[in-house]
Parts: sequence; structure tokens; C-alpha cells
Amino acid sequence: MKLLEGKTALVTGASRGIGKAIALKLAEQGANVAITNSSADEAGQVVADEITALGVKGKRYVSDAANFEDAHKLVEAVKEEFGRIDILVNNAGITRDGLMMRMTEEQWDTVINVNLKSAFNFIHAVTPIMMRQKSGSIINMASVVGLSGNAGQANYAASKAGMIGLSKSMAKEVGSRGIRVNTITPGFIITDMTAALSDEVKSEWAKQIPLRRGGEAEDVANATLFLASDMSAYVTGQVINVCGGMNM
Ligand code: NAP
Repeated sequence: MKLLEGKTALVTGASRGIGKAIALKLAEQGANVAITNSSADEAGQVVADEITALGVKGKRYVSDAANFEDAHKLVEAVKEEFGRIDILVNNAGITRDGLMMRMTEEQWDTVINVNLKSAFNFIHAVTPIMMRQKSGSIINMASVVGLSGNAGQANYAASKAGMIGLSKSMAKEVGSRGIRVNTITPGFIITDMTAALSDEVKSEWAKQIPLRRGGEAEDVANATLFLASDMSAYVTGQVINVCGGMNM
């Protein structure tokens, strides 16, 4: 028996990296999976096809997670197409790094909107559906830098710290309705987002990690599967570090 048979998951930002690994992991465990990304590129469709090849329903939606109206329209479309939404993974995220002295208002606003407001948009749209179903699991992708801070990433760290406050507040708001809300804080995970960093920065990061390596997207997907499934039925409002021990 698979862990997510008959469930529907919606994963934002799943055309590559961590979101893609999550979408495929949930599909392997029997979930029907709707995915999003903002560019009308081929990558998102390729992931949707890979989901379908696993014998479940998969569909890709092109949508800017930062846009409130788009997010609501998308959630309505997913509900119409899939019939229900049991799992929401707010994974879409970007970086626009820079020291505060040089950070533009645009860098600040874009990161807060794509990383944090997106989660508000989707939680706002999905919770009425989960309330009617009397169950649901919401997983928000933050980062260890939301806990520790990071020079040159004030916008990103603030957005990720915001995700933690949002998750814990929602866990308190909707727990009595059978909806669980948790946060994952990945450390240094090898994806396109971190590929842009220099080898020097990467080796400095590795030195700070007790397991002495960057994580794989699948490491984060495994923690997501736990939080999405009934294996975590009594877990809500929690922050799970998937960081090789970087944050303790
Ligand atoms: P990634 O490889 O850059 O992938 C980001 C995904 O988000 C892509 O599918 C991208 O597709 C999508 N996306 C970006 N902007 C979007 C928007 N406005 N609306 C909808 N989708 C959007 O990043 P990743 O490394 O997998 O990171 C995934 C999440 O984990 C992010 O929230 C990130 O902050 C978090 N995280 C990553 C690390 C790490 O070390 N990699 C560590 C901690 C936390 P499009 O560009 O086509 O929209």
C-alpha cells in the first residue's frame, strides 16, 4: 500500500530542483500531483509527463505564485480537474542576493513576494477546500537562513523567517479543522539555485556542515513525504531542518 493513494497534491515551483523531486516522490507514493512554475518553458511539462508515467494523474500549470488572483484561479482549476486538494507544498522560491547597502527596493519586493506572499496566496485559496474536506497537510519551504540569518541575503532570510511565522500561526488557526501546517528548512541543497555559487563559496559551506556535503533534492523530498503522509498525523507547527546538521 502506497502512502498517498487517492490523495491530490499541489506543488508550486516544481519544474526543477527541490520542487521537481517532491512532485515525483509524492507521485511515486500514489498521489495525483498538480505542479506549477512561472515560465512557459518545456521543463514543467516534462515533469508533468514524468508524473503521469508513474501511473497517477499529473498536470502542469503556468502561474506566478506571487500573484494573488492567479493563485486563486489556479487552485480553483486544480480543484475542478482533480476533485480535491489534500497536500499543498509552497516551494516556489528565488534569490536576489546583495548587501543591504546595495539592495534595491525591487530586489527586496520581488523576493518577499515570490517567497512569502506566494505562500499566503496559496494557503488563502486552499484552506477553505481543506476545511470542507476536514483534512489537509500544508508544507512550507523555508531555509536554515530563516533561522540563522545570512549576510547578503537579508531579503531572502526575512522571507524564510516569515514562512516559519506564517506556518506556526496557521497550524494554530486550522489544527482544530484537521489541517496540519509544517515547515521544512533545507540547508545547502545542490540545485540550480546553488549551482550559481562559486566553488570557493560552496567549499566554505561544506566545512560548516557536519555531514560534510551538500544535500540532494531527494533528501528534502523524503522529509516532505513524511509531512504529507499520515506518518506525521500528530505533527503540526513544526520546523524540520534538512541540513546535514548545519543548524542544531
Ligand atoms: P530552483 O532550482 O531555482 O527552482 C525553483 C522553482 O521555482 C522552479 O521550478 C521555478 O520555475 C519556480 N519558480 C520561481 N519563481 C516562481 C514564481 N514566481 N511562481 C511559480 N514558480 C516559480 O530552486 P530550488 O533550489 O529547488 O529551491 C526550491 C525551494 O527551496 C525554494 O523555496 C528555495 O528558497 C528553497 N531552498 C533551497 C535551498 C537550496 O540550497 N537549494 C536551501 C534552502 C531552501 P520558473 O523559474 O519557471 O518559475
